[in-house]
Order: sequence, then structure tokens, then C-alpha cells
Amino acid sequence: MKTIAYHTLGCKVNQYETEKMRESLEAAGFVTARFSSRADVYIINTCSVTHVADSKSRAAIRRALRLNPEAFVVVAGCYAELEPGQVAAIEGVDLVIAHQDKEAIPERLIARFGASRQSAVNSQQSRIRPRLRTRAVVKVQDGCDQFCAYCVIPYARVGKTSRRIGSVIDELKSLADFGYKEIVLAGIRLGSYVDENIRLPELIQKAAEIDGIERIRLSSIEPWEVDDALLDAMQFSKVCRHLHIPLQSGDDGVLKSMNRPYDSAQYCKNINRVRERIPGIGITTDVIVGFPGEGDAAFDNTCAMIERLDFSRLHVFRYSKKDRTKAAEMPDQIQAPVKKLRSEKLIELGKNAMARFASSLIGQSLDVLIESENHSLQCLTGFADNYVEVRLPGAASLKGEIVRVKISGTDQGQVVGVRLCIDRRGNPFPDARLADI
Ligand code: SF4
Repeated sequence: MKTIAYHTLGCKVNQYETEKMRESLEAAGFVTARFSSRADVYIINTCSVTHVADSKSRAAIRRALRLNPEAFVVVAGCYAELEPGQVAAIEGVDLVIAHQDKEAIPERLIARFGASRQSAVNSQQSRIRPRLRTRAVVKVQDGCDQFCAYCVIPYARVGKTSRRIGSVIDELKSLADFGYKEIVLAGIRLGSYVDENIRLPELIQKAAEIDGIERIRLSSIEPWEVDDALLDAMQFSKVCRHLHIPLQSGDDGVLKSMNRPYDSAQYCKNINRVRERIPGIGITTDVIVGFPGEGDAAFDNTCAMIERLDFSRLHVFRYSKKDRTKAAEMPDQIQAPVKKLRSEKLIELGKNAMARFASSLIGQSLDVLIESENHSLQCLTGFADNYVEVRLPGAASLKGEIVRVKISGTDQGQVVGVRLCIDRRGNPFPDARLADI
């Protein structure tokens, strides 16, 4: 039996695609190994969204080759798609796979190494049980045609495509059968999902009708794709009160040169509308600092917006040139020390906003999906529907369960609470035994 180790960089779409490969290869008898171990085959699913992602992708390939110089090394993903020559030039890489051929990776490995007899039985028996049973990512859409000036994704994942609704629903039902409580609908441009007359809001509604799925979460969604129909669909109780809506800049001039189709006022209006319709929602965002031409005043506009909009989490990226993109050719590139200072300032503002959001939850009761045990702190951790990570005392047997938690405070920026039990009359009370821990 051959062992395969997987490493995934980047977005949820990549995570999903790796998971699909793993399922098919396990069905064919390959054994999944840790990426830190010596394996017969390594599959590295790369990302190319920034230069950092490129170099992390190369580092992962080199790590695999160090772990086993004799291994068969397969490289897929956006970096492999955009820079196949660079990847192939790394000595020891055996296969560089373009996006369009990704689905054929299991077939190619089976052709090379063969499938075991046992596995043929397994695969006929039906589906292979996925690895974790708390949250599953389901890709429903791929590709982008927006061509934001800094972004290379439209060159790597060309054109927008959506999966057929029937295939998505079948997959969701299968995940529910396996015991997944939460599913994350993912896409490069999730908000553009369309299959005939079914758009994202109708897809959410259909997903919410599936027994067994208790939570539906949306991956990143662009600001111009958040409309009333989506907010209506988010009223279903199964839909998590969380949206990740990339801002990128709070300055109208920078947004225009980025080719982002909104201005700061429209973005703010949208966020306010979301908050009115979905009280308590956690809104997270991405911001790029040091985009070409971003002067001090423009950066101040971004800071002011971050302070005003109370995001529950902020991801800060330093702009870096990417070949093929418009921004790489723009004048007024910003010096690295300036980008560093700006990113440090924004990270600080982001931490403050996160702390404010966390404090606002004290005294509230939230439903938390328990995902893991923190052995050093002897507690459980999980995510509330608003995508805040919560720490609580409790037994490991609660992993994979959704429990009601009374938020009691914060500790080093993390939200802490205690599980609520329900008495015979349906009234909640704190689990006293656990509260004392
Ligand atoms: S919307 Fe813009 S940032 Fe997002 S994938 Fe498309 S081009 Fe890239």
C-alpha cells in the first residue's frame, strides 16, 4: 500500500479540491500520511495569490523532497497553473498539473501505482467517509472575471463556472449522512453562483432544507454581491451570522485603481444594511496596504473605515507585485518599509476591533460547534455561528456537537464561556460542575 501526504495552501476552494483527491485515492487503497512524515507520494496543492504564497508553495515542495527524495511529487494549484516552468525546474518534481487536469490526479496515480483489491471493494461500496466530521467545505463555484488590478486569480482560474445544483445537493446530503453538522459553501466568487434560475440565495434555501445539516456558512463574498435576496436567505436559522466581505481599501481613489466596483460610501452602506438585517453578525474583511499610489491620506481613509466599521476580524496583506496584473505596471509603487509600518498599524487596529467585538459578546448565549481539545489549556474550542472562536471547559465527547455556551469573558483576546444545560422546563442553566473548572 502506497502512502500519500497532502499539503494545501490558500483558499477554501483549494482545501475542497485536495479533499476530493484524498477521498478518491483512499478509495483506491492509498493510505493518507502526515505531511511531516516520509511518504511514497506527496501532493502539494499550491496558491499564488501573493509572492508569499508562491514562496510558501516552493518551500512545501522542497520540504516534501527533503522528507523523501525518492518520493513521487505532484504539484497542482494556482502556482503550478501560472508558473509551470518554475515548478518543473525544481529537481525531484515528477508531475505538474494544470487546473483543468486536477480531477485526473487520482486516475494518473492509480495508473502509475495501481489500486488495491480491497480498495476496489471500498469504492464500489459507495462513498468514502471524510476525515473530520465537524465542518465540511463544499465548492459550488470556481473562477473569476473581475480582474482586480492586484489579483492573479482570473489568470489562474479562468472564467466563472458554477456546479449543477443537483450535484451540490447530493454532496450536501451525503455529508449530512456522514454526520457533518456544518457545511461551508465556497467559491472564488461565491456570490456569482448560478445554475439556470438557481442563485446563491436559492441554493442556501435548498441546503437549509436538508435534514442533518445544522449550520450553513458562506465563504468570502464580494461587497457588490451582498444583496437583499442574500440577506433574506440568511434569515434561515441554520445560516451562520457571519460574512467575510473583502474591503481591500477605504479610499475611493485606491479602490478605483484596484478596479473594485464600489466606493467607500457604498461599502459602508452595505455593511450597515447587513447589520440591520442580521443583528449580532460577525463581519470579517481583508485589506491590502501599500497598493501603488496609496498616499498617506489614502491610508488614513482606510484606517478611519476600519475603526468605524467594527469588524470582528481583519486580515491585512502587504501589496506585492504579481506578473500579468495591471498593478505590477503601475507607477508609484510603495516602498517596503512604508508597507511594513502601514500593515503594523492596521494589524493593531484590527486587534482592537476584534477585542471590542469579543467584549460585546459577554453575557450572551451562543451556539458553539466544538471542534477540538486544547490539551495545554485543558479545554475545548469551537466556533460560534458568528465565527468567533470560543474556549470552554468540557468533556472530549462533546467534539462535533453544537452546544449552547454562556459567554463569561475574554482571555488574551479569546472568548471564554461555560456550557449551558437545559432543565426539564426548557430553561438554561450553567453546568455548575464545569463552571468550577
Ligand atoms: S474579485 Fe478580484 S480579488 Fe477576488 S478573485 Fe476576482 S479578481 Fe481576485
